[in-house]
Amino acid sequence: MNFDPDAFKEFFPLFAQPENRDLIYLDNAATTQKPRAVIEAVTDFYLHSNANTHRSSHRLARRATEMVERVRRQAAVFLNAASPREVIFCRGATEALNLLAYSLCSGLRPGDEIVISTAEHHANIVPWQMMAQRHGLTLRYVPHIAGIPEFQRLHEVLNERTRIVSLTGGSNALGLRPDLEGIARQLRGCRSRGRELHWIVDGAQLAAHETVDVQSIGCDFFVCSAHKFYGPSGIGLLYGRESLLRRMPPWQGGGEMIATVDLHSSDYADLPHRFEAGTSPLAAIAGLGAALEFLADRDRAAMAAHEQSLLARLHREIAELPGVRLISEPKQNLGILAFVPENGSATDLVHWLDEKDIAVRVGHHCAQPLIRAAGETATLRASLAAYNTADDVERFIESLRDYLSASE
Ligand code: PLP
Repeated sequence: MNFDPDAFKEFFPLFAQPENRDLIYLDNAATTQKPRAVIEAVTDFYLHSNANTHRSSHRLARRATEMVERVRRQAAVFLNAASPREVIFCRGATEALNLLAYSLCSGLRPGDEIVISTAEHHANIVPWQMMAQRHGLTLRYVPHIAGIPEFQRLHEVLNERTRIVSLTGGSNALGLRPDLEGIARQLRGCRSRGRELHWIVDGAQLAAHETVDVQSIGCDFFVCSAHKFYGPSGIGLLYGRESLLRRMPPWQGGGEMIATVDLHSSDYADLPHRFEAGTSPLAAIAGLGAALEFLADRDRAAMAAHEQSLLARLHREIAELPGVRLISEPKQNLGILAFVPENGSATDLVHWLDEKDIAVRVGHHCAQPLIRAAGETATLRASLAAYNTADDVERFIESLRDYLSASE
């Protein structure tokens, strides 16, 4: 493995700021830090190219328009979509899932079914609950044990009324990374009986740790957020098969998404713009382009192998500490360690770690059904990115050891 995390970390100016020199940042599942190239791309947009797209024809507007469409082509390569028309810019995974819920469910009949899992982020639960209430749909869950979904048993909840299966590509609370091939196989079995259903992958965590190939996954839709993979916040991607997107009603109405507007009706623009009402977050799109270029220049398999070796060590050593109950498993895990201290509160521990300049997160991690089914109200989560080093892990474990021995 030829990955050097210290050299990689130097791309990220936040860590070079005097106040952050001792920072150990283990909150990457919430958001990652940004490389200099991303920060500069955002600033450069405002310095050199700021204008609204599509609407006008002056030099700056043309440049902004070209930039947006170039980043869309980059995003299509990043996801291995068949065409840039299959890539919709959204505010993030949350907005992409709301768009899908609104648009797909508007064509369903009362009694049709949607399958999700207990390991979903609230962004992949609440929009479906809202649409289930509005359209009289039934929400089903993949069978689970204490909140941990058994994705190999997905077929047990599929039936002739199933229309949408929206499942995580990686849990932000536990790191759990489902076997997507196994899910695809079970869905093929269902479709081979002539049933039409759509498979959505919530790839918000997955895209941060693995190369994504939507065609080889075989999903119909895939969503992710740039800020989880070193890009800016406020911009995310929705991939959809072109044949499906063409049949779906638009979500929001407004400028940019129309072809013509009359007093009582409108014709919508072609793909992908019909799903992009209003002014897009243009500087964030410029930053996304820089993040995609940054990742394209890196050995992502080596980055992932590095993260996995840190994760294995975290699980091994923390499992041996007395007074700690591990919630996550090291296998099939996208870089997340979740645990609770057996004595005292996880919140106190996180504040104590914060005083040592170690950033981890406590709470339900927007996954209340999962955390509750696991019998907890809050867990402590340490989540990795490729700039974390063996030294970070060492200091985290040492600090935890100190805290636990002091609270015995
Ligand atoms: N899905 C998963 C698995 C996530 O981890 C997150 C964010 O934590 C989201 C969806 C929502 O992403 P965003 O807040 O960027 O829209």
